[in-house]
Amino acid sequence: MSNLSIFKIGVGPSSSHTVGPMLASNLFCGLVDKQLGDIARVKIELYGSLSLTGKGHLTDVACIIGLNGIRAKDLTISLKESILKLAYQDKKIYFNQKKMIDFDYERDVIFYKDFLPLHENGMKLSIFDASETLIISQVYYSIGGGFVATEEELQNPKKENDSKKLDLEFNNAKELLELCSKYNKTIAELSLAYEEQFHSTDEIKRYCLDIWSVMQDSYYNGANAKESILPGSLKLKRRAPYLASLQAKNSDPLAMVDLISLYAIAIAEENAAGGRVVTAPTNGACAVVPAVMLYLKSYLGKKFNEKSIIDFLLTAMAIGSLYKKNASISGAEAGCQAEIGSASSMAAAAAAQILGANNARVATAAEIAMEHHLGLTCDPVDGLVQIPCIERNAFGALKAISAARMAMDRDEMSTPRVGLDEVIATMYQTGKDMDTRYKETALGGLALTLKSYC
Ligand code: SF4
Repeated sequence: MSNLSIFKIGVGPSSSHTVGPMLASNLFCGLVDKQLGDIARVKIELYGSLSLTGKGHLTDVACIIGLNGIRAKDLTISLKESILKLAYQDKKIYFNQKKMIDFDYERDVIFYKDFLPLHENGMKLSIFDASETLIISQVYYSIGGGFVATEEELQNPKKENDSKKLDLEFNNAKELLELCSKYNKTIAELSLAYEEQFHSTDEIKRYCLDIWSVMQDSYYNGANAKESILPGSLKLKRRAPYLASLQAKNSDPLAMVDLISLYAIAIAEENAAGGRVVTAPTNGACAVVPAVMLYLKSYLGKKFNEKSIIDFLLTAMAIGSLYKKNASISGAEAGCQAEIGSASSMAAAAAAQILGANNARVATAAEIAMEHHLGLTCDPVDGLVQIPCIERNAFGALKAISAARMAMDRDEMSTPRVGLDEVIATMYQTGKDMDTRYKETALGGLALTLKSYC
């Protein structure tokens, strides 16, 4: 499949807990469209991590919006407010924008502590007729990065020969690098050639530029936010507007470090506030890639042009696809190493590419960035994508830049001991070995310690 959707326009605060459940609800609307006349009630059942951190991640809200037939990329603040007023005050859902049905939050949204068998993020949607008879129900899993799969799709994954044979395919870093040398292309060029099997060149370039435009808007909105407190129980103050005000007189030799932190914090806060951001590859980690791009824009000036933007995103999505294919980009499945770690690895490779590294060094940059995120747990306090997530994006961006520079400074003759494929496999195995408490359940780590201190 095309890798463009590694980057997609969505809403905060979480790709797996907000964007994915919203998409599942949209898909369910399509699935039951023929039964529309009979629908009198809809039930939302959330399991595992979607339940344990669902309220903080707005999973319930996302399902309600999705069942109203609204897609994440089309959601505006006023639309969200009107849908929630309809649901909570008027006790109605305008099902798929076609039929008004009764809705009672206490009765129709159920949070279960147990997990469904196939993935940590399970949910079930059901519709009933006026006599309370079940018409149809469907289990969905939100598998990370805003992607979803039904129970059937996870149980019977498409066999390779079910899908169209592509001229250009890579399943791991080794194959990617071999193809690059076979066709004498950079990773960005190879990624473009891969995407051209699905879309026209113009569509791909336009998609990348649209993504970059939303990334810049999220930074602007975060740095200039008017409301000062982020939503949720922590009552956390937004820091980006103040950090931005300090920048003008920052003459410290390490001012660039402060600037990169500002870029990341502004975007991560915008995500935490439920604003429009780019899932990259997840919402929790949405600020890492754009913070590195904004750094390159400041550092390279006019040299960071349209081509650099497109090449950056194409390189990052090729690397992101390796994590999605061979490991995970879901904090609920493999901890924060799968989210911030993957984002940092993608950004490191892309930065090295733009700074002129050869393909081997680009892959090494990706490897270094992930190697130093291995073991990173996911322990969002009170289930909100705020502590530790917001600052963690800044560290992901800084590590990415550091990794790109380290990779570029390597001796040409020395082969790295750890390859990108090995580190991806290690991340996945570490994630599988990780205790469930550290995988987006808010039952361990900082989430637990802070609870006992409050
Ligand atoms: S700790 Fe990391 S993986 Fe967990 S919600 Fe925050 S950013 Fe996402």
